[in-house]
Amino acid sequence: PSVRVGLGDEFGFEKGAFVQGKMITLLRKLGFNCVLDVNFGADLTVCEEAAEFVDRIKNGGKLPQFTSCCPAWVRFVEYFYPQYLQNLSTCKSPIAMQSAMIKTYFADKIGVSPKNIVNVAVTPCVAKKAEIKRAELSGTDFVITTAELAKWAKEQKIDIAALQDGEFDSLMGNASAAGTIFGNTGGVSEAVLRTAYAYLTKGKSKDLKLDLNFVRDYDGFRDAEVSLGDRKIKICICFGLANARRLMEMLENGAHYDLVEVMACPGGCIGGAGQPKHLGQEAEFEKQRIASLYARDKELKSSAAHDNPEIKRIYKEFLKTPNSDVAEKFLHTHYCNRHDEIGGGI
Ligand code: SF4
Repeated sequence: PSVRVGLGDEFGFEKGAFVQGKMITLLRKLGFNCVLDVNFGADLTVCEEAAEFVDRIKNGGKLPQFTSCCPAWVRFVEYFYPQYLQNLSTCKSPIAMQSAMIKTYFADKIGVSPKNIVNVAVTPCVAKKAEIKRAELSGTDFVITTAELAKWAKEQKIDIAALQDGEFDSLMGNASAAGTIFGNTGGVSEAVLRTAYAYLTKGKSKDLKLDLNFVRDYDGFRDAEVSLGDRKIKICICFGLANARRLMEMLENGAHYDLVEVMACPGGCIGGAGQPKHLGQEAEFEKQRIASLYARDKELKSSAAHDNPEIKRIYKEFLKTPNSDVAEKFLHTHYCNRHDEIGGGI
């Protein structure tokens, strides 16, 4: 989601401009045969992570559940707090889920051998280049950043402002508002709560009455308690690893949370290291990118990941249910204690 609100910076668009359609046309011009939406992968992550969260709270699993979509945060836990590995959600990140589905479900649907697919993820994130080297998260062949995509376009003398809007390919090209807000700090928690609420109460997500204003703040550390059905859920959201360390020290000292979201970059992925840079004005650009994704949230028909018609279809035809054996095989992962790699100290 973050690429489409960052790419325009390099081509004279206003701050945070939503250039999804032009981004798609640019990728086709650069030679890609299919352009899929990783927000679809984010929707899958939300469904799996919400099901995992509901299972943990109903069956006495390890809490808090930590989000696992940020590879820098995952590596931080593996290095410095390996005693919390069981708290990390086993869900792969959106690009890793998307890649696993491209090389199985999608390849099968379009009748192409997975061996003949070169899968490139465009991300706001430099750490994703390391993530795809983890054996258990393979399936993405290359990662390029927003800034690299802009550079490539300029080298090819393509000005995206002059391009018509394009559309994603189907099967994995449709996304809900939940997958869209994933790029913002707090967006993952909000997206997971929308679907967890539906799973817990068997209610429709539109009935969800949560005061989520705190989720949408730009503060680097915030927490609150919300009611989810008849349960009280304590959530902590932070960005930046200094705040993550503060959180871990609080947990070590007995603080209790049910759901924890950590993003390494300021404002979440919209502030990723692979985004175009504006030294001295970063926060201003980040806030506009956040506003742009929340504006898109309002426009989309499905507000919750599990309501996305393409998500319903992939569960019906391939994955069965969230956290099924097939889903476990392709969409979940494991973590390692890497404390010794840094000499066993902090
Ligand atoms: Fe990558 Fe930063 Fe997003 Fe983490 S927060 S996934 S490091 S862009």
